[in-house]
Amino acid sequence: MSKYIGSKCKLCRREGEKLFLKGERCFSAKCAIVKRNFPPGMHGAKRKARLTGYGIQLREKQKAKRLYGLLERQFRKYFETARKKKGSTSEVLVKLLEMRFDNVIYRLGFATSRSKARQMIGHGLFTINGRKVNIPSYNVRPNDIIKIKENKAGKKIFENLKDKLKKHETPSWLLLDAKKLEAKVLSGPAGDELKQIFDSKLIVEFYSR
Ligand code: SF4
Repeated sequence: MSKYIGSKCKLCRREGEKLFLKGERCFSAKCAIVKRNFPPGMHGAKRKARLTGYGIQLREKQKAKRLYGLLERQFRKYFETARKKKGSTSEVLVKLLEMRFDNVIYRLGFATSRSKARQMIGHGLFTINGRKVNIPSYNVRPNDIIKIKENKAGKKIFENLKDKLKKHETPSWLLLDAKKLEAKVLSGPAGDELKQIFDSKLIVEFYSR
């Protein structure tokens, strides 16, 4: 599977806001949005783009795609799946994206960014219902039990994790047991938890043109 290997900070600068792609650095003064909040490129600082309706929809789609670390083909597939399901396509789309295994690991605070979560999943550090799952795109289901593998919990990457989790805010659709380093998926996100930094209705409009 191909992946984006360019600068993550450039993606944030292109969208003009923090997408939190680099973990702890995103909360520091080193964040490129703090230092250079203008689009990348030679004329980025001077040029102010006036967006058309299409441009606004495109930017929302790009923002969501970049936030979840997906390429166009993968993202489009989520849209097509959402369109075929019952209910509001824009809400189902967010729900599908949020229930990706890598996003869930990030939301639980087990990883500092979605890309880190993807890497950790690839290394087989987690189980779902007692079985190792190393597929970042795996869609979790209600009642799934997600756990850090017992023989991996002592790894450096999980150092001080229990302390860090005390300050971490977990969405209400996930039930975290920080002591046991495990969590249960209670449901999918709903209501306010479907609100993201992008407007999913504009994404539906973009693909429906
Ligand atoms: Fe984006 Fe994080 Fe880079 Fe800041 S540090 S520009 S939030 S990826």
